[in-house]
Amino acid sequence: MSKKTEKATDTFVTEITPRSQDFSRWYLDVVRRAELADYSPVKGCMVIRPYGYAIWELIQQAFDAEFKRTGHVNAYFPLFIPEGLLMKEAEHVEGFAPQVAYVTHGGGEELEEKLVVRPTSEAIIGTMYAKWVQSWRDLPILINQWANVVRWEKVTRPFLRTTEFLWQEGHTAHETHDEAEAETRMILDLYATLAEQVLAMPVVKGQKSDSEKFAGALRTYSIEALMGDGRALQAGTSHNLGQNFAKAFDITFQARDKSVQHVWGTSWGVSTRLVGGVIMTHGDDSGLVLPPRVAPYQVVVVPIGRENWRETVLPRAREIQRELTGAGIRVTLDERDERPGWKFAEWELRGVPLRLEIGPKDIEKSQVLLARRDTREKAGVPMDGLATHVRGLLDDIQRTLLERALQFRAEHTQGAATYDQFKEAMEGRPGFVIAPWCGSAECEAQIKTDTQATIRNMPLDGSAPGGTCVRCDAAAKAEAWFAKAY
Ligand SMILES: [Zn+2]
Repeated sequence: MSKKTEKATDTFVTEITPRSQDFSRWYLDVVRRAELADYSPVKGCMVIRPYGYAIWELIQQAFDAEFKRTGHVNAYFPLFIPEGLLMKEAEHVEGFAPQVAYVTHGGGEELEEKLVVRPTSEAIIGTMYAKWVQSWRDLPILINQWANVVRWEKVTRPFLRTTEFLWQEGHTAHETHDEAEAETRMILDLYATLAEQVLAMPVVKGQKSDSEKFAGALRTYSIEALMGDGRALQAGTSHNLGQNFAKAFDITFQARDKSVQHVWGTSWGVSTRLVGGVIMTHGDDSGLVLPPRVAPYQVVVVPIGRENWRETVLPRAREIQRELTGAGIRVTLDERDERPGWKFAEWELRGVPLRLEIGPKDIEKSQVLLARRDTREKAGVPMDGLATHVRGLLDDIQRTLLERALQFRAEHTQGAATYDQFKEAMEGRPGFVIAPWCGSAECEAQIKTDTQATIRNMPLDGSAPGGTCVRCDAAAKAEAWFAKAY
């Protein structure tokens, strides 16, 4: 890079608060400067801007393909739920009541029955399943919907917690408990694989404690990721609903033995929160770092040249864009009349995995320069076989980001045998602390009061712990992963 370029980069980058100085400020700066989202006139709601929405679309496509591969189909249910329906499942109502938004008027008249703006759709979908299911032959039902939901939040942050957000919610109905459990766990595995392979975001799979489970579920499982500031992010949940909703909504079927039984249900979801997870897992002081699989642009082509670059360099740059696009790579060509250094910083901030520079000298040598966003390595590459080379680099960036995140998690995960050790760990360097727990809600609550840490989950493959609970003297029932969480 020339001296001039370096200077331009520095000036540009100072507009983002350094991560180490104030992570929360850094996050908001990145969201705003990379044009992912903006605040809206409605408090607590965000506008997802095209660049942020493009990331969400890529996440959606990857998840949707897997849902379909595993036998699910998409449908759409209404935004409004009659209040009476939400009231049918007691725990469910209690869990969601503080966050529910109501519609009281429509068409200039007060409604006879208030409508709830869905905080989640178990109530409306359960009502429909009761109509659709008669016999064991109608099962399983494997439906997903992509939708918006509303949960009135007091403190909000773009992508991580907003009053309205986008998500997918799967709702399935089965003949037996075991089938429902298998579905719940299959989806959990699928979420974990997608988080790691698509978002390059390693997650811990496990079961939630009773106090953290979904309102009305038998069991809740989650995937938990560790963000760059050492706080955990619940990135997806999968619930075995048992027969609770089937009983509340009267979803019955004639079983193979002719008896009438209630179905066994599941529900599961991931949301636009995953976009926040990507930002906080990979971003650095220069801005966003996007894994290639969710990068709206995987390559940005920046023409370099003197005054006449539009005549000399641009035609070749366009050819390259066409060639790479033809090979299935997402490419943008920045032909704005700005200095190359300004463009470099701009696309770094937006997290584009690869920058391709091409100037008159490169054309002479029949090569281009490729600069990686993750390692900042820069190398000349022959134009011959360029698409293959680029694809190889993108794969390597995807892999490198996952490895880096795995290493970060390993460095920020520790065990604690005594309560003093536990408290010390939570006061110092943040991250996951693994500790034996007796299973009592009282201990869990006390730990939260003392340290702000909550049980994120209890890994499914965790070995049975020996010894006693990290806080009390009772025998440990589980090895729990604790963290301060978003
Ligand atoms: Zn205890």
